[in-house]
Amino acid sequence: MAVLLRNPKISIKSFSSCISRNFSGTTLNSEIDLKVPSFLSQNSLLRRQETKEGNVQWVFLGCPGVGKGTYASRLSVFLGVPHIATGDLVREELNSSGPLASQLKEIVNQGKLVSDEIIISLLSKRLEAGEAKGESGFILDGFPRTIRQAEILEGVTDIDLVVNLKLQKEALLAKCLGRRICIECGRNYNVACIDIKGENGNPGIYMDPLPAPPQCVPKLIQRADDTEEVVKERLRIYDEMSQPVEEFYRSRGKLLEFDLPGGIPESWPKLLEALNLDHEDKCSAVA
Ligand code: AMP
Repeated sequence: MAVLLRNPKISIKSFSSCISRNFSGTTLNSEIDLKVPSFLSQNSLLRRQETKEGNVQWVFLGCPGVGKGTYASRLSVFLGVPHIATGDLVREELNSSGPLASQLKEIVNQGKLVSDEIIISLLSKRLEAGEAKGESGFILDGFPRTIRQAEILEGVTDIDLVVNLKLQKEALLAKCLGRRICIECGRNYNVACIDIKGENGNPGIYMDPLPAPPQCVPKLIQRADDTEEVVKERLRIYDEMSQPVEEFYRSRGKLLEFDLPGGIPESWPKLLEALNLDHEDKCSAVA
């Protein structure tokens, strides 16, 4: 499989332990200094000592509703690495009876970002759990979402590739409003049929709905933050806080821009092609 792998990596073990070290002695609610830190030099050492080949360490960027989860989860099956979506980690925590649940619910339902401190703690816990199960490599989805998060990530490991998925704003809103999730299997579907005509030199786009199979239909729910008002706020916050992250990776030569040409049937093979994954692999990709 020809995957674009450019940089040496450190293991998830180093990643999570490095993050934990940086945040050690803090609780999720405490105020901490997120300046990138003295551990950078220590970390450079880790990089030299624990270089490991063969596991992708990719990041998926893109506005809410663009399809990061869909394509990142397909690629994770395809490449045999975990798909780690920080939005899922946040939703798990807010649906739990943990001390953060109500605080997180309020933030998420307003379309705001959770603090860097909380998100890094959740990610760190997830990586440690994965490490215990023998996971290696990852596709991160929804992280980093601020420059601060990108700097911390850069401080602890080398990201090979950052895929920036792009779709016009009008389609993003329709996709979020049409999103449905099966509460049992967790899969995402979409009831929206998007048909935006091209005008003023801008291309149009057509995306079929993604219907749920009969067994999921009675169990479909909408995310509480997929209302028009909240999606507009999430898109505004993306522009303000997360778009600079694109530039962060562009300036490091790691950003692969990918304009989605349509729904999954058109976009998936083109994405594989852009990622330099060969045809033989495409045939065995998830349906
Ligand atoms: P998502 O499923 O990626 O749309 O994320 C849902 C919500 O979780 C976001 O609107 C944020 O409130 C929160 N969230 C997820 N990832 C992050 C992150 N990296 N930084 C801050 N907040 C996040």
